[in-house]
Amino acid sequence: MTRSRPIVLVLAALVWPASVRAQASCGTCEHLCMWAPLLMSAEKTKQLFSNTDLVGGVDNVLQLDGAVNSAMGDWRSSLGEVSDSPCYRIIVKEFYDDDPLASSQLNDVVTHLPPSGNLLHVKYDDPKCPIEPATGKTKKEKDQAMKDLKERLCPALLDAFMTHEKVHQAQCKALWKKGAKAATNAFASPQTFAASEVKAYEAQIKVMRESMQKLIDRKQCQVSTHSIEDFAPPPKPDVDVQKALKMGKALEMINTVNAQSGGKK
Ligand SMILES: [Zn+2]
Repeated sequence: MTRSRPIVLVLAALVWPASVRAQASCGTCEHLCMWAPLLMSAEKTKQLFSNTDLVGGVDNVLQLDGAVNSAMGDWRSSLGEVSDSPCYRIIVKEFYDDDPLASSQLNDVVTHLPPSGNLLHVKYDDPKCPIEPATGKTKKEKDQAMKDLKERLCPALLDAFMTHEKVHQAQCKALWKKGAKAATNAFASPQTFAASEVKAYEAQIKVMRESMQKLIDRKQCQVSTHSIEDFAPPPKPDVDVQKALKMGKALEMINTVNAQSGGKK
């Protein structure tokens, strides 16, 4: 019991990484430094769901989710300061004559990153497979949560997240054509679940990259000598598999305890 609290807090922090305040716009060149960490984060998540040691080492989807979240936390803390990030360095150098203090807009962007990850999901036990916000129980609460997301996220970012969910939705609908059992059983397997995430992240990453490219082209950001890879270098495949698996199992234990005590999270 004493161990459960810090773990829950860590996971909660991952769902809402750095955002406290709304940030609906994302149309300036400085916002490349909003897209960059989100793109890298999506690429890292895809990498983890593609990791056969991780996917093969869990007993169920809940453990896999916990393992991936834990590995994501380690990866994020390995990134260091925002001021060291490639995007920040490039923008400060090219836009602000190497003077970080001149970049209040950039500093505002990087210190108020929008939330990402686990914001939306597909309701697999419904034959219509609706996409809904992860928070809220009643329809009214869900509607409000969706409204909040639309206000908080810039449209292009919401679009990227929706693209991700539409991949799951299409798979869900296809499964329902085979029957309710097919739909509910398919995602009980970590392998199937992971494969679905990899596909969904691929689609999301494509939209994110297109949005970054559009921003560079439309706003004529003076970064012509740089590519998206310079702003958001592909994450290294490093992962402490054993630690992640341990954390995944811990998450499952916590959930079991929570369910037994009636306090379903
Ligand atoms: Zn997904």
